[in-house]
Amino acid sequence: MTFETVIGLEVHAQLRTQSKMFCGCATEFGLPANTQTCPVCLGLPGALPVVNKRAVEMAVRTGLALHCTVGTTNQFARKNYFYPDLPKGYQISQYDRPICEHGWLELQVNGTSKKVRIRRAHLEEDAGKNIHADAGSLVDLNRAGTPLIEIVTEPDMRSADEVVSYLKSLRDVLMYIDVCDGNMEQGSLRCEPNLSLRPAGSDELGTKVELKNINSFKFVKDAIEYEIKRQTKVLGEGGTIVQETRLWDIDRGQTAVMRSKEEAHDYRYFPDPDLVPLVISEEWIEELRATIQELPKDRHRRFLRDYGLPDYDAGVLTSSRALADYFEACVTLFAEPKLISNFLMSEFLRELHQAGTTVESSPVSPERLVGLLQLVRDDTISLKVAKEIFPELYAGDKSAAQLVEEKGLRQLSDEGELLSLIDEVIEQHPAQVAQYRGGKETVIGFLVGQAMKRSGGKANPQKVNALFKTRLSS
Ligand SMILES: [Zn+2]
Repeated sequence: MTFETVIGLEVHAQLRTQSKMFCGCATEFGLPANTQTCPVCLGLPGALPVVNKRAVEMAVRTGLALHCTVGTTNQFARKNYFYPDLPKGYQISQYDRPICEHGWLELQVNGTSKKVRIRRAHLEEDAGKNIHADAGSLVDLNRAGTPLIEIVTEPDMRSADEVVSYLKSLRDVLMYIDVCDGNMEQGSLRCEPNLSLRPAGSDELGTKVELKNINSFKFVKDAIEYEIKRQTKVLGEGGTIVQETRLWDIDRGQTAVMRSKEEAHDYRYFPDPDLVPLVISEEWIEELRATIQELPKDRHRRFLRDYGLPDYDAGVLTSSRALADYFEACVTLFAEPKLISNFLMSEFLRELHQAGTTVESSPVSPERLVGLLQLVRDDTISLKVAKEIFPELYAGDKSAAQLVEEKGLRQLSDEGELLSLIDEVIEQHPAQVAQYRGGKETVIGFLVGQAMKRSGGKANPQKVNALFKTRLSS
């Protein structure tokens, strides 16, 4: 029997606010344990939560970017469970009245795109962290109360590749609208796929297994592929799948049972009596809608259409808003999109990467980069030379023209000078010239090489090639 895989996804994204969801404590990552806490996020008796307006704003903008309906009245609810990193004994979340519902996000696999339906997106607070050491376990509550948006899809995905593509699209969107830093290593974006199999052609859903807290594209792919194999084997042997939560064990490359799956009623959700229903005016929603600029997929399409770029280039350039902005700043100055795109994707990104810096803080402005490429286009220097001097352009503050003059890198393009070089080569290599004239055209490579050598590498190779051909055929 063949099976179809059905996957839905929950993603927790940390919102980029300065302070926590219900108190004024800072959200900065990596500070000494328990230094960013107060009575509210420590869960002390009598402390009262106050909603962070910026977090609500970011949640609404997320919903709008994901084509959701934003609830004008929504409610915070208590999700009750005990864990040492949750001092109140409950997490403030949203239950039956989430802030956003019924949206979609487009993903792309093997050149075809697909819309994944978003069931809901709701606001909640993060828990703290348990740190297990030899001497015992410790609790760090710096993270407790950090605002999260949990984005839940319908079970619309069918493979690990679709899930990875969805996650990448979602991360791009969240970073584009500046609500999440997308840093998966620091846990700013964590995902929980739920996965079931059913006989191919069936409409019924099988029993699902939830995979907990995965924070890398690679792990999510590995875990899903493992789980598909495991469930296929169980069902193939006539067994049944148990509804449970499993963890991905990175070292062993397999999933293992964490706990049997709890149901929503196990949490005894009820409206948080400390917080009044949150009312969001239509006016405010429209104000926030106006702050959402072009999203990555739309920009990608526009790059294909307006600049005639290949799909790959458009994908790389629009993967970050800063890079896409940089590219467009260059194109405005110099209408050579493909030349610019090639240079950005190779030399430019490599140099940034090596320096461990970002596009936003690139020391090379679009003006200086374009200055370099203009020298290539008007044959002052070859592309090879442009690549060679780029690290110097990057490290200093000279213009490309200054560097080329100082180093005497100007390319030899004068026809008279090139012809005298060529004539010298022809005179010194009669045997190769005879071979060429006798029909062995590949010899031209050798002759061009000789002329390039004589010029100290400065001759324009295309021109040398063309002039040789005219000279030798006359
Ligand atoms: Zn606090």
